[in-house]
Amino acid sequence: LQKYAHVDRSEASRVSTGALPSAEFVRQALGEAYERYRTVQEGELATYIPALAAANADAFGIAIVSTNGAAFLAGDSSCEFTIQSIAKPFVLALICQEIGCEQARAKIGVNGTGMSFDSVLAIELNPERTMNAMVNAGAIATTSLAPGESATEKWAFIQDGLSRFAGRTLEIDAAVYESEAAANERNLGIAHLLNSYRRMYFDASQATDVYTKQCSLVVTVQDLATMGATLADGGVNPLTGEQVVDASVCKRVLAVLATAGMYERSGDWLYDIGLPGKSGVSGGIVTVVPGKGGMGAFSPLLDQAGNSVRAQLATRFLSEQLGLNLFLSRAAQHES
Ligand code: GLN
Repeated sequence: LQKYAHVDRSEASRVSTGALPSAEFVRQALGEAYERYRTVQEGELATYIPALAAANADAFGIAIVSTNGAAFLAGDSSCEFTIQSIAKPFVLALICQEIGCEQARAKIGVNGTGMSFDSVLAIELNPERTMNAMVNAGAIATTSLAPGESATEKWAFIQDGLSRFAGRTLEIDAAVYESEAAANERNLGIAHLLNSYRRMYFDASQATDVYTKQCSLVVTVQDLATMGATLADGGVNPLTGEQVVDASVCKRVLAVLATAGMYERSGDWLYDIGLPGKSGVSGGIVTVVPGKGGMGAFSPLLDQAGNSVRAQLATRFLSEQLGLNLFLSRAAQHES
């Protein structure tokens, strides 16, 4: 398929989406999601990054930002946490914007691994090696593609781009960064292995360091919802009005998110929730509802795949209550 030039019409006028329910309805559903799941105690704190083990296991916040800029918050919505893997789709979007979506597909890949986010086996078993930008291998390779000759320039590009998605300057949590950097053998191993397959596009150790920095940026659920809303809004941040990336980039990034955002649980996620979403090991999840808005949820207790238990439950509830599942349809009026 890829050898035939294809027509990308996402900038054209025919786009099919819809709108969120009324503000009152959204507010009520959000409050109910919080009340329903705030006492759920299942899951474990991430411990492989030592600083994350110190998180408050009770914290739970949810936010929705609509494409017209309205924000809805519930629970610990001002609680700060590190973005971790949720940076991945936004970095992919920035790189697609720089080098083009087809180049990004050629250099990284867009297929699922069916394996965990830090799998080395997935690199060995698949000839594409990097596979996709949502697992660590593909994500470190994506970061290595950031413009700039030095790690400093690449980091400046990524910090600035992620901040434009959030609509405010995002800063590093130094304790989490240092903690992960000091225990980073696995990601360094992945980066060097990719280098041996010529699927790393900058110095492997320095690219891993920039990747670790991007994971350590501090956000709230409202930031996640705003970032998600930007991908839902044809690349325009609904709070700042800035065009961060093109609409055609959003469309491709959301496809990768749907395929691999929840790693080996991406099928279950899509089956339950029907929307592209991305989790991170600090307990955040961003979900994108094209044309309508973004959702951010946070709670640090994780399931076996490293996805927040309460955040998944809240997102599933809201997808159902607000009618957000992309695969949902209603029969047209047929003449009898
Ligand atoms: N910084 C983490 C890592 O690279 C991010 C992983 C995640 O959030 N799933 O291991």
